[in-house]
Amino acid sequence: MYDFNYKRASSVDEASSSVSNADEGKFVAGGMTLLPTLKQRLAMPSDLVDLADIGELVGITVDSGSVTIGAMTPHALVHASDDVKNAIPALSKLAGLIGDPMVRNRGTIGGSISNNDPAADYPSAVVGLGATVHTNKREIAGDDFFTGMFETALEEDELVTKVIFPTPEKAAYMKFPNPASRYAVVGTFVSQGPQGTRVAVTGAGPYVFRQSDMEAALEANFAPESVESIKQDDADLNSDIHASAEYRAHLVTIMAKRAVAEANG
Ligand SMILES: Cc1cc2nc3c(=O)[nH]c(=O)nc-3n(C[C@H](O)[C@H](O)[C@H](O)COP(=O)(O)OP(=O)(O)OC[C@H]3O[C@@H](n4cnc5c(N)ncnc54)[C@H](O)[C@@H]3O)c2cc1C
Repeated sequence: MYDFNYKRASSVDEASSSVSNADEGKFVAGGMTLLPTLKQRLAMPSDLVDLADIGELVGITVDSGSVTIGAMTPHALVHASDDVKNAIPALSKLAGLIGDPMVRNRGTIGGSISNNDPAADYPSAVVGLGATVHTNKREIAGDDFFTGMFETALEEDELVTKVIFPTPEKAAYMKFPNPASRYAVVGTFVSQGPQGTRVAVTGAGPYVFRQSDMEAALEANFAPESVESIKQDDADLNSDIHASAEYRAHLVTIMAKRAVAEANG
């Protein structure tokens, strides 16, 4: 490890100003991605600003039309919440499929979406449900939040405070997990509700995307048969030791078909 300044912020404002006043400041949530990145010298920030003491960033609120999750809420809490299970069972399931128990206890929704790993699960729910990301500066539509591989619309000192998910009429998430890490080789989140008919795909491309051909077909008829013959173009998909672009394209259709079947109960 190399030297850096470490601070535990006690409020959102203090955290944001500490990062903006640093040479190169970084927020730390559970450290699940950030700490390995530092150890490998892939990032060398001058200041780490820990969000762990900011109580207002942790928690889940459910009302008649939405589920609100604080940025520092760990995946395990989202998965275990009966309120989330009742309102959006697909979101509870998704959180329970992330990594292993330690990752689910330390990793947070804010850290996950801010990091925007191409194989992360939460981005598919944010886009697949038409959620809104709230920061200390503004509200960002889920569709506009993810801008590239490991890139988001966030500014350097901008802190995600919460994510608001509209409650869908039906929704489901299916993923083909990497057997070692559980990250998504391909994950498909489908929903129908106040944000229209949505199909969001993670793991397959550089970052989460909507599958518009499948959305149009499901808009006409929300049934597994509607998507089973729709092929995903593999031109821009990821290809690595885990799966070829062609195989990922195939999985997009399979995961979508299974997700629609599950959403229909
Ligand atoms: C072994 C392993 C397996 C995993 N498997 C999966 C999986 O199957 N599916 C999956 O989706 N994920 C998986 N993950 C990722 C994990 O779930 C975490 O969500 C992710 O690592 C982020 O961790 P964190 O919340 O601790 O954020 P940190 O590592 O602390 O931070 C990550 C980044 O986000 C920034 N950040 C953190 N919080 C905020 C905020 N509120 N506002 C703005 N920026 C912020 C930090 O500055 C940093 O750049 C895995 C991780 C590990 C280590």
